[in-house]
Amino acid sequence: MEANPAPAPDSEQAWLEAAQTFIHETLCPAGSSPDVQLTQSVIDCVKTTWLSQGKNQGFPLPLSYSFVSVQDLKTHQNLPCCSHLSWSSSAYQAWAQEAGPNGTPLPRERLLLLGTLTDLSGDLEQESRKGDLYVKDNTGVLTCELIDLDLSWLGHLFLFPSWSYLPPARWNSSGEGHLELLSAPVPVCPSTTSPGPPSPLPVLYPETASRLLRHRGKLRGVQPNLAGKLVRVSALVRSQKKAHFVLSLGGGSSPAGSHVSIVVQIPAQLVWHRALWPGRSYVLTALRVVRIRGHCYRVWTTSPSSHLLPLKPECVRELELELDGPLLEADPAPLPTPSSSQDGDREPALIRHSTLLSYTGKVTGVLSQPAGLYEVDGQLALCLAYQQFHSLRKVVRPGVSLELQDVHLLQSVGGGTRRPVLAPCLHGAILLRGFSCQKPENQSFYQAQGASLFEQLVWERQLGLPLYLWATRALEELACKLCPHMLRHHQLLQHSSPGNPSLGLQLLAPVLDVLAPPGSTRRNAHKEILEEPHHCPLQKYTRLQTPCSFPTLTTLKEEGRCRAWAAFDPKTLLPLPESSHLTSCQLNQRVSWSWLSLLPATSHPAQILIGVLAASSHKGCLQLRDKSGSLPCLILAKHCQPITDSRFIGCLVRTEKFQLVIERNVRSNFPSYKELNMTGFIQKQQARVYIQFFLADALILPVPRPLLHSATSLTPQAEPTLPDGPHIEQSRLFLLSHKEALMKRNFCVPPGANPEVPKPILSFCVSGSWLGGTQRKEGTAWGPPEPKGDENKDQKVLLVFRGSSVRWFEFLHPGYVYRLVAPGPPTPLLFEEGGPSCIPQRALELAGCASCLTVQDEWTLELESGPDFPAGPDTSKALPKTSLDDLLSGNSSDSLVSFSAEILSRTLCDPLPAPFWAKPGGTRTSRASVKLTVAVEAADCQSRPHLDIYIKEPHLPPPLGLLPGARVYFSQLEKKISRCHNIYCCFRPSTYLQVLSFPPETTISAPLPHIFLAELLQGGRAPFQASASCHIVSVFSLQLLWVCAHCTSLCPQGRCTRQGSTCPTQTSVSQASIRLLVEDGTAEAVVTCRNHHVATALGLCPSEWTSLLESVRGPGKVALQFTGPGAQPESSAKVDEPLTLFLRTLCTSFSVLRPVVLSFELERKPSTVTPLEPPRLQRFQCGELTLLTRVNPKIRLSCLSIQEPKHPSSLGAFSLSC
Ligand SMILES: [Zn+2]
Ligand SMILES: [Zn+2]
Repeated sequence: MEANPAPAPDSEQAWLEAAQTFIHETLCPAGSSPDVQLTQSVIDCVKTTWLSQGKNQGFPLPLSYSFVSVQDLKTHQNLPCCSHLSWSSSAYQAWAQEAGPNGTPLPRERLLLLGTLTDLSGDLEQESRKGDLYVKDNTGVLTCELIDLDLSWLGHLFLFPSWSYLPPARWNSSGEGHLELLSAPVPVCPSTTSPGPPSPLPVLYPETASRLLRHRGKLRGVQPNLAGKLVRVSALVRSQKKAHFVLSLGGGSSPAGSHVSIVVQIPAQLVWHRALWPGRSYVLTALRVVRIRGHCYRVWTTSPSSHLLPLKPECVRELELELDGPLLEADPAPLPTPSSSQDGDREPALIRHSTLLSYTGKVTGVLSQPAGLYEVDGQLALCLAYQQFHSLRKVVRPGVSLELQDVHLLQSVGGGTRRPVLAPCLHGAILLRGFSCQKPENQSFYQAQGASLFEQLVWERQLGLPLYLWATRALEELACKLCPHMLRHHQLLQHSSPGNPSLGLQLLAPVLDVLAPPGSTRRNAHKEILEEPHHCPLQKYTRLQTPCSFPTLTTLKEEGRCRAWAAFDPKTLLPLPESSHLTSCQLNQRVSWSWLSLLPATSHPAQILIGVLAASSHKGCLQLRDKSGSLPCLILAKHCQPITDSRFIGCLVRTEKFQLVIERNVRSNFPSYKELNMTGFIQKQQARVYIQFFLADALILPVPRPLLHSATSLTPQAEPTLPDGPHIEQSRLFLLSHKEALMKRNFCVPPGANPEVPKPILSFCVSGSWLGGTQRKEGTAWGPPEPKGDENKDQKVLLVFRGSSVRWFEFLHPGYVYRLVAPGPPTPLLFEEGGPSCIPQRALELAGCASCLTVQDEWTLELESGPDFPAGPDTSKALPKTSLDDLLSGNSSDSLVSFSAEILSRTLCDPLPAPFWAKPGGTRTSRASVKLTVAVEAADCQSRPHLDIYIKEPHLPPPLGLLPGARVYFSQLEKKISRCHNIYCCFRPSTYLQVLSFPPETTISAPLPHIFLAELLQGGRAPFQASASCHIVSVFSLQLLWVCAHCTSLCPQGRCTRQGSTCPTQTSVSQASIRLLVEDGTAEAVVTCRNHHVATALGLCPSEWTSLLESVRGPGKVALQFTGPGAQPESSAKVDEPLTLFLRTLCTSFSVLRPVVLSFELERKPSTVTPLEPPRLQRFQCGELTLLTRVNPKIRLSCLSIQEPKHPSSLGAFSLSC
């Protein structure tokens, strides 16, 4: 652009004409006739400046430049730009080089800007003076920044030879651009230099001035002048009422620290703040002394007639004052600062002191503009938040040089901030020392959000710097997690006001309330600036331990998955010695399912769960969602209470108490326990991750409504009734009596639909009864129910939920009243007709329902609670339970049972391979099932009978939360009786289950009840597992064998004996069992011990047990039968073999027949199917006497463990009987 073609002479004329018009319109007083003199002065001034650059291509006029008015800049200049009339292109190139490789220099425009420099924003006097600087012409006014202001410039017309213009961000329509004046303005009309004062000005020097403050009356009527070197300028503090700043003058010769502070608060003098330059000397005229309200000391302040002048030694003389009068008061003692006295004790260890220093550096990065965080010189952080830095916010960007006076340096503040932080308080000033040549980064709308919330954190919540830095980062993290899909940035980061709290602040509040309790004292600007010693929020700090983190749901899920697999160890799942006796099949089955619960406190820093609650219309489950993804969750309103209120959908949930559950499914082919540590035998592994928590532990924040409609990614359902405006809706109440399982079901094809073979679809049904007729919305309330034709008609109804209405599944529970709401104009009989009936009439009759209604996708459900309907049933009464007698009876006519139970164990049953979470449409041939062993809770009985519950296809995978330790209410399970008369239960399509409580976070294994064996004769009332002190009376049988780990055939000499054996490995495992007779003086019992318990029963130590088993390896099997006292044992082996002999001797010796503490469970699941035999009479021969006595039948027990009694007195009944 520098190489312009030679302009025709008439273009020079055109330029001059345009200049004249511009000057007349823009610079001359409005309404006046053209000012020839002004026009000439302007053109001369432009010419001189233009020629000063030296290379003017031979043109006397800058023809390529055009005049621009303030208004033109504001309206037409939408991009940042700069203009340098006096610069050659090489000067511009050199300047632009400073932008560096990553920055973009401001593009150069050819514009001529003229205007008056002023500190008045409008035509109003005084009130509008806030210390800001403006460029003004007839068309408007623009704020500007200037590095070295000469106060004499104010009010004069200037040509600005070098400047940058930065328009407001594109999204900020109400914002204003600003000018950065890069070089000193050129006066259009050279000012007539005012001659100095005729006689030297009488001045006071700082030392005298500060002594004068302590003398009353000396200065009455006199307004002295003060002279000295500027040692410090405070920040310009603006409050609602007025603004002020403080400057300190020191004497060149006076000792360090001897300085005097002068408060400047006259609006017209606030602009001095831009003219003051520390290190230079000034004279301030016409000062007076005032006492600051609320403080005990007096300070110098300016009067309206004060002036700020540069100090010229030849123009001043020291004012002689006699200061021999009495002192007004002693130096005010420094006030004890309240905080230092409070934490005096713990101060040395925890509290650090920041360093006060001055620093000059260049801004190299923007960390967070709304939070006032920048990077300086590539390695320091700069936090401007503890000053009011509104005007600086526009200027500060990479490339800007700053001088920071009396700035605090805080090192290792913690909380995730690694670099040292520079932070100025009100005491020190941030002085602009160089503008940036860089174009500001294109700032998106959301990047600029939150400025007023961040200010609130500092000025209202009074957060210390470490916590402020953490909070700003946490808010950014939250914004990344939730915005803009779940929330808009402005919703998360809006300014908090009493009626309209900021969501972001609410999410942080529980943490901030602990670390910085609200209600601390506000900052006092006067104290912060004036008080000696200095006291401010940045002075002392404690290193912050990062209080918590807000991981995204995907991070949480992945972390959980990783930790669960890292912790997966088959050897810990199956510890020795138990595992050494398991066959391959048993081993792999036991490894196939396991679970892990991770608590937030186990990670550092503690994790806080945040997400938007949603109900999946595809899966029917509840989910937490954030931008990264979703995580299924199982939520209880509180202990034993399900979640029923659908208004929680769409709410923001925050909780610190939750369990991250990882269910591990492993398909493996471990040949035997020896290979358990070899991961190569794991064929497939999969994890199911979900979250469990109580709503009562969570913070639930409703998200402002209008958003939900725009956020299409969120729950697609229509929202419940909106509070504003009339809505056409109708509704009907119903009481839910039973809910069926959520599973894939076949439905009849509605007439007119595609008649192809219907695929089973995910659905569920609930049965209940209508409460009253249909109601219409009247205003914001529901009108009266429509009268029914026949009040006595059966009101029972079956509601079918399929398609996207499965999302209501988790909210529907028996015993609660719900309102079914249909949007749209009133449709007669909308809730009456079944529509196209989807359930065969016969099934409806069986269900006892008169009608069947399919819930439409757009219908909604609300929990109805009010004075007429209590918010829910009393759970203990409402959940129907089968009595224990009915549950355990063999009566099969009543085969549906309901009960609450604690899950004791969960295993995957045959056949392997284990089922993997079904992929829709996937073909799976294996028909595995999940077995839950539960302890049934019965109100009327102490004992908790154990039952097995089987879950098979199509109920797999099992619902969330069926974990060992959890308490669950099962309704309408099918009761079955096994061939050996054990009772077990199976899931049915009508089965309803409700998790009552999650597994306890810490498992405290309660000791088994210690009982007398006779207590077991009470049948079903007896505890299922217990311990007893008893005596081993005799051994009935003993069997030791080696079997093939693969096919369980006998393995003599370690070789599988199966016909045509194709067993992949020749691994054999030992198995053992022993049957003992024990008694404790109250009753006798036959106890079966297996595998490693046999070793304890025989009183053998591990090495003895191993060598015993090794000696059986040859024959493969040793079995001994002891047919009674004194009888010869029968044996599979030859009687006289040493091994048999040894075992026979051992089993009859006192090392086996001894007192023990036996833990056991009933060998058979309790049932009343086979009633206990009554006691029978038995004849005994005792010497010559024949005794006839009533003998109870023998109790059959399985051994859980055998322990040696600690001391004789613990033998219970046995010791009593002696
Ligand atoms: Zn400070
Ligand atoms: Zn085999």
